[in-house]
Amino acid sequence: MLLLAAATAYQYSFAQEAYEIGRFTIEFNSGANEEEQAIQDILIRDERLFELLAEIDDAIYLADGVQIIFAPWPDIARYAGWDVDIEPNAAHKDGVILISYGLIVDVINRFRKNGNFDDDNGFAEFDQKILPNIVETLLHEVGHALIYVNEMPTFDVGEEIIADQLAFFIMSELYEEEVLEPIIQNYTYIAAEQGAGMVSEDNSLHPGAGERAENLMCWIVGKWSFNDELESSEGLEECEYLYAKLMDEWHGRLAEWWRE
Ligand SMILES: [Zn+2]
Repeated sequence: MLLLAAATAYQYSFAQEAYEIGRFTIEFNSGANEEEQAIQDILIRDERLFELLAEIDDAIYLADGVQIIFAPWPDIARYAGWDVDIEPNAAHKDGVILISYGLIVDVINRFRKNGNFDDDNGFAEFDQKILPNIVETLLHEVGHALIYVNEMPTFDVGEEIIADQLAFFIMSELYEEEVLEPIIQNYTYIAAEQGAGMVSEDNSLHPGAGERAENLMCWIVGKWSFNDELESSEGLEECEYLYAKLMDEWHGRLAEWWRE
């Protein structure tokens, strides 16, 4: 009954722009204001999300369709059953991934505030710095969707950690480190806003921003073997080990669902 009520509340879903990519559908609802509309236009024009979904659909078997909806925050909060007054976010519910334009606006503003976004160069800045963060959010939610549609287990690490790891695994297979750098920047900015020590002990919750930035940095360093960011070569060795372990685990965890 609750689900039905939520679905009815979300009357928005007859999207303005909808695209089918294999088992994914991606919908872009109208933004709530000019800035959100501009983001909607860029996301459609940029095409990197479409390419990413095509790659995933080629590589990984999905037992059911996954719907991805970009929409203004209040609609998403209502659909997910969340308080509309909390900060805009992304959500997964029953094979539906929802990402709010407000979350993207927040990322842009965070980069602006840190003097790292040149508005005169809008499209290129968005493509280089903001889009990777949207990709990471989308892939995290794809992790939740995979657990749901494929009934993938969470391997005793907790669903949120699994979703983060899967996001990194896919990104590291597809992209070079330049693409991942703005994601570390975003988490570092958030961690600075929130203050230190935002580390979550409860693995049913998202890891804190600082912990996410550290994990990501370590995997990146481990993959590309540069240690400028680390204080010692032991740190590099540790990260190389953790990266190799993660890759190993994920090839195993996904073995059942590779299309090849
Ligand atoms: Zn999550």
